[in-house]
Order: sequence, then structure tokens, then C-alpha cells
Amino acid sequence: MEVPDWKDYYERMKEASPLVIHYPICGGGDECISACPFSGEIWEVVPMKVSLFGVGYRVRLRPFMKNPEACRRCYICVQACPTGALRPAESPVRHPALTFIKSALTLPFKKKYGLSFVFRKEHVERFKRNNFGGGKIEGGTGLQD
Ligand code: SF4
Repeated sequence: MEVPDWKDYYERMKEASPLVIHYPICGGGDECISACPFSGEIWEVVPMKVSLFGVGYRVRLRPFMKNPEACRRCYICVQACPTGALRPAESPVRHPALTFIKSALTLPFKKKYGLSFVFRKEHVERFKRNNFGGGKIEGGTGLQD
């Protein structure tokens, strides 16, 4: 089966979810899933064709809201996103490069979801699996699995 382009998933979330993800600037560390108090109900990771920060367009695993109705709109996941890719649907990413640069520059100064959060072992492992694992899901689809 053909793996969809990231825009398909973007549009699906835009239609049905309170959040959208501009996947080309998503790093794939699953920080949003890790931070969400209801991640098991709401999130899954899915294979899609996307680049990593503009490089290497191919099949990667990325977060997708399988059950947006369960979202409480607390936006903890948005705060936890290190790249700015995840946004409330009403204020999506408009300038991806600027959003990414700004997020990277402010990351060291974030208190709760700063560098030590991003470089937790589980996020580093998810980054490797989601970007370089060939789009295969092994060992569960969420950090709480
Ligand atoms: S807004 Fe809150 S409940 Fe909804 S996905 Fe993000 S962290 Fe989870």
C-alpha cells in the first residue's frame, strides 16, 4: 500500500482535530505524545512521507490524533513540542523556517520542556526509530504502551 504524503495527514487533522502538525519541521521525538496526559486515548504514530527539517523526503513515523474527540484542549503537547510544528488548529504554522529557528533558539531557555526533556532517553530512541527505522512500528505506538 502506498504511504501517504504528510499533507494528507495534515489535512485530516485540520478537518477533525483541535491541533495541526506542520510535519516537515516535526523532529519525530514524540515529545507531544509523552507530555499529553491522555496520550493513549488520543495519539498514535503513523507512517507518512516527509522530510526531516527539509532533508531526506521518505517514509518516517509521525504523531497523528487517532481520536481528537478525546482531546481536552489543554495544549500541554503544544508547549512540549520543541520545534513549533504542533499548533492549535486556529493558529497553524505560517512560516515554517522562522518557526523552527525561533523554537530552536528558545529551547535552551524553556523551563519544563527544554533540552533535558528533549534529550530524555525515550525521546532519543523515538527520534531514531521514527526517522531511521524505515517506517516500521515495533514495540508499541505510544510512549505509554
Ligand atoms: S491539547 Fe492536551 S489533551 Fe489534547 S492532545 Fe494536547 S496534551 Fe493531549
